[in-house]
Amino acid sequence: MSSDVTQSQTQSVVSPDDEDVMVRVRNLRTYYDDNSLFGGNPVKAVDGVSFDIKRGETLGLVGESGCGKSTLGRTLVQLENATGGDIQFDGTDITTLSGKEMQKWRRNAQMVFQDPDSSLNDRMTVGEIVREPLDVHDWKTPQERRQRVRELLETVGLRQEHYYRYPHQFSGGQRQRIGIARTLTLEPEFIVLDEPVSALDVSVQAEVINLLEDLQSEFGLTYLFIAHDLSVVRHICDRVAVMYLGHIMEIGPTEELFTDPSNPYTHALLSAIPEPDPTVEKSRITLHGTPPNPRYPPDGCPFSTRCPARIRPDEYADLDDELWTQLTTLREVLRERHRAERTVRDRIGELLGRESRFGTIEEIYDELFGDFEVPEKVQTVLDDIADDVRDSDEAAALETIRAEFGSVCESESPEYHGVSDTGRISLCHRHQEGYRSPAQVLEDRHL
Ligand code: ADP
Repeated sequence: MSSDVTQSQTQSVVSPDDEDVMVRVRNLRTYYDDNSLFGGNPVKAVDGVSFDIKRGETLGLVGESGCGKSTLGRTLVQLENATGGDIQFDGTDITTLSGKEMQKWRRNAQMVFQDPDSSLNDRMTVGEIVREPLDVHDWKTPQERRQRVRELLETVGLRQEHYYRYPHQFSGGQRQRIGIARTLTLEPEFIVLDEPVSALDVSVQAEVINLLEDLQSEFGLTYLFIAHDLSVVRHICDRVAVMYLGHIMEIGPTEELFTDPSNPYTHALLSAIPEPDPTVEKSRITLHGTPPNPRYPPDGCPFSTRCPARIRPDEYADLDDELWTQLTTLREVLRERHRAERTVRDRIGELLGRESRFGTIEEIYDELFGDFEVPEKVQTVLDDIADDVRDSDEAAALETIRAEFGSVCESESPEYHGVSDTGRISLCHRHQEGYRSPAQVLEDRHL
């Protein structure tokens, strides 16, 4: 999806009250280049996101593994360089800072990592670990530094005498407390918490969450809370951003988003939360396939390759839902084949008339459509596609699929739409006039 899509429309829909805003992110992109000799496509880990974080709030960031959450968090605290767009902290674009200015700013924004073990140096004492940022910034006198560290240890629920111990002498929860104390040394205003309790035993998760909440109210901290555990997010976050393939699909107040999701992806993500009461019937949306490779994102909507509410051409509106899903899978299979490098052996094998490592189109059709009554109209298109594939022309096959079964979802980038009067926005074509809402479609399809 082209990233400039959202630039203008987000200006008008994203913004809450200006005065409250601490972090303003606009059209932010972070790509990873693999510096290969041949150029190649970069991994578009964050691909044009815009949102605000209000002073003192906790914004949750959720989404499947690999969707770009950590990269976004790391970019906000400048552990990663943005490829484009800007990040303003209290009006200053920090992507343009360097040298002394950058060093000064870094004190304001810190990050707590998932795995306390890998972020604590086992050869340093707890005191040295927590004091290190003060030493780096040459903060006051050594004596005052030691005093500050002792106070911080108490602030996070450890004891002053822990100063001379080593990280391995502590439990996981205590180690995370050490990490949090270190984060607080320079009195930051903004902290990215990257899965801060995921590596901890369930019994200590709540303690660390409570500590984070207490610290927030004591020091007026602003948090970006990255998590895959949605129940923790629901508990701790004021607002939530739902991320998919480098994009924010929906963002808004937590409770509202959990009880009445707007975006089809939010629906799917929330439906995967296990229901604590097994007697309660809960419909689950099974997402087919895996998220696309962020090196090769699809055209149009980022979620279009898996979306259960994807808009169909009118003539296929009544086609069996499962058959429609199989057609979507066929498109993904062909996309993969189109991209896959054939090895020399495969190509020689093909020249000699041997099968390539790809299954034949007959095998694929049997797998996908063997159990279905395929209507004649669809079968004719499938026959055309099969001809292209036999000629190894996947590009032509994909074009046929797009022309026949495609819709605005595959061809145009969606826009953000306001979906409630609380500033919640969602990225989906279905919010436009003339389409049924995602919730309506999913309900009609019994999803
Ligand atoms: P999440 O935190 O949601 O699991 P990440 O931000 O870690 O997602 O990753 C987003 C995408 O960027 C993934 O496809 C991941 O493989 C890729 N990625 C992350 N870090 C790097 C890196 N340093 N170099 C190349 N690709 C990376």
